[in-house]
Amino acid sequence: MNINRQRLLDNLQRYGQIGQAQETGVERIALSEEDKTARDLLKQQMLEAGLVVSIDQIGNMIGIRQGERDVPPVAMGSHLDTVYQGGRYDGALGVLAGLEVIQSLNDQNISTEKPIALINFTNEEGVRFAPDMMGSHVLAHPELLEEILESPAYDNPEHTVGNQLEAIGYKGDMPCGSLKLDSFLELHIEQGPTLELEKTDIGAVEMVQGIYWTRYMIHGQANHAGTTPIRYRKDAGYAASEVMHYIGDYARRADSKVLTTVGTISFEPNAINIVPERAHFTLDLRSVDYEALKQGQTDIDQKINAVVLEAGLSLEREEMVRFAPVHFDPSIVKLVADGAKDLGLSVKQMPSGAGHDAQMVAAVCPAAMIFVPSVAGISHNVKEYTQPDDLENGANVLANAILSRTGRL
Ligand SMILES: [Zn+2]
Repeated sequence: MNINRQRLLDNLQRYGQIGQAQETGVERIALSEEDKTARDLLKQQMLEAGLVVSIDQIGNMIGIRQGERDVPPVAMGSHLDTVYQGGRYDGALGVLAGLEVIQSLNDQNISTEKPIALINFTNEEGVRFAPDMMGSHVLAHPELLEEILESPAYDNPEHTVGNQLEAIGYKGDMPCGSLKLDSFLELHIEQGPTLELEKTDIGAVEMVQGIYWTRYMIHGQANHAGTTPIRYRKDAGYAASEVMHYIGDYARRADSKVLTTVGTISFEPNAINIVPERAHFTLDLRSVDYEALKQGQTDIDQKINAVVLEAGLSLEREEMVRFAPVHFDPSIVKLVADGAKDLGLSVKQMPSGAGHDAQMVAAVCPAAMIFVPSVAGISHNVKEYTQPDDLENGANVLANAILSRTGRL
């Protein structure tokens, strides 16, 4: 079956105007007014498409199209929230292509054996509330619900996930985890350059890299830059720079299997003529190889401990995120790859460098992802762009994978 290309493009355009940022971007932060507006529109469109709509306790929106049999639905979806000054496609494509699949099934009077679910997950991006991939995380781990509802906003500690869900009217009553799923598919933009550079239409995503985030604080002693001899200094800034260099080199070794990034650093007191008392920095460590990920964390921690010990400093360390690599279900990956080939598209089996809702859902049912090319590999940016042909291709691959999983009648 083929989806309706123009309707999909129009819908992407329409949602792109909710929280529009500059000419082409979108800023629709989770649980904001803009998020509410987009959710309200999706709810209306789900109802118009004949779906039974439920909201669960973490605010995930779930629309179900009945099948001939009363069995767990085949699910698809992604997220409508964005980062600050984000793009039109990250997240929205997976939700709106899912809606398009349902609208096309309706247009073509196709019934399916199993039901189909369309899901919009709460707070995938995690820019205002931690953790990211929140809705899918709680769907897979309902025991975390109460703790996560208390999570405070970075920009206002009085705002919590729970009270902001209530404020926008999306704190639902469906128990998280009560909906059993047959399987899950997420269409998403690649957010990297590989498909475009290799002139490939579709990525059949086999796995998601593991991600470790750690926050460090090296503690020294503030002192005068002119009167304190070097040998008497406890310079947290100098120690941090040595560590940063090690972390950068670690990923640049020829046999390296990890990516390392020190994306933030700050000193206190942060003055030109004062030896830094404290250096705060973060480590983003990623790998497709779980052993390499764990080893990398161990090696870097050992180095930091050695530097701090030798300089007579002290260290605080906070583990922010620990996600092991996730391997998708090979039968669903094959469904995507075979379906793309049947449509005459070129396809590459590949890992995902970024985290996605599908990796969380993979804990409760067979799951996989479909990638389409990102122009110049740009995302989390108002310039994020995917060609209309690629959007259409991705939605068609999604439609056919869903149909073969649900059994067409
Ligand atoms: Zn996304």
